[in-house]
Amino acid sequence: MKVAFAKPYLGHEEAQYAYDTILTSWVTQGPKVQEFEEKFAQRTGAKYATAVSNCTTALHLAMIVAGIQAGDEVICPSMSYIATANCIRYVGATPVFAEVNEDYNIDPNDVIAKITPKTKAILIVHQMGMPADIDAFKTICEQHHLQLIEDAACAIGSSYKGKPIGQHSDLVCFSFHPRKVITTGDGGMITTNRPDYDKRLKILRQHGMSVNDRARHEAKDLIFEDYEEVGYNYRMTDIQAAVGIKQLERLDWFIEQRHQTAKWYKEELNEIPHLQLPSHNEDFFTTYQSYSVLLKKGFPIERDALMRALHQRGIATRRGIVLIHQQIAYQQEFSSVALPHSEYLSNQSILLPMYVGLTQAEIQYVCNTLKEIIQTIPSFS
Ligand SMILES: *Cc1c(COP(=O)(O)O)cnc(C)c1O
Repeated sequence: MKVAFAKPYLGHEEAQYAYDTILTSWVTQGPKVQEFEEKFAQRTGAKYATAVSNCTTALHLAMIVAGIQAGDEVICPSMSYIATANCIRYVGATPVFAEVNEDYNIDPNDVIAKITPKTKAILIVHQMGMPADIDAFKTICEQHHLQLIEDAACAIGSSYKGKPIGQHSDLVCFSFHPRKVITTGDGGMITTNRPDYDKRLKILRQHGMSVNDRARHEAKDLIFEDYEEVGYNYRMTDIQAAVGIKQLERLDWFIEQRHQTAKWYKEELNEIPHLQLPSHNEDFFTTYQSYSVLLKKGFPIERDALMRALHQRGIATRRGIVLIHQQIAYQQEFSSVALPHSEYLSNQSILLPMYVGLTQAEIQYVCNTLKEIIQTIPSFS
């Protein structure tokens, strides 16, 4: 048996939605993008949503709208995808890396310890879909007059204290890359409750243009656009948005399927000593965008050896999230950064196959294989 690590779930309906859109001949940002934004805002409970080309461009615009500039510091975790920190550097600011907790999410206490007079914002990440403790960070931001930005790339469908991620703060960025919970090929979204932010985001994503193509097209009278500031082309296409609309319709089912998979894993792997499974509760409702297990002290086989053994038996896994400050692009400047707990979690964790469409038989094969590998190690059996 061969088990893939991740796969997007795309069906005939997505193809049909894209097909129908292509035949309208409106293929770039237009009515489908607007419909997707409205439905996305509704689903997340946010007042407004702005679709963009991916989550990295969403984060870049969030930095600009939050007023982050050269010389400023933004606190974020090092245990995240590299785009989290790259977007801070795009505006000339400096990422300040904070430690994470047991749940792989940024630690509020370490954030407080890292605030300086240059700190302007905290960029929290809902890692693998697990919500960070948003209220704790809101309090810190109020006390220290900082902006809160959420990297919710993996968290469409997650909720915090009973309310969906997307409505809790003023700049929340989502990803629709195929590795995330819903996909448009590539794509991103920013939700906000502030009308001024919404307006500026929609101008910045299309070259700083004062009126969008559709408004101009539909206007009864002749209207000319102005370019109010230096903007970007970070648009989503209507073809992508059409796919996104269908994916959003499937979201509840996707989340159910992922939770079912996590339940199966838990039933099979719970008894293995020194193996820590992800935690989950209703206040921190996760999407299980990834399923990460931690090999604790006493676990009988090293992480990479386990991955290799699984690979030899047809099972694809990934190492835990690598740390940004250890990447070549960051290494030199951030050589003095010490984040022992992040390092421990990064080095000792492994991501198991997790996607919609993974069968119970496949999960059983993964779990049985893992148990067999452990049992062949003499000191353990
Ligand atoms: C995937 C991911 C991103 C980047 O998303 P793109 O849509 O690929 O640009 C940013 N942050 C986190 C935490 C991610 O997981």
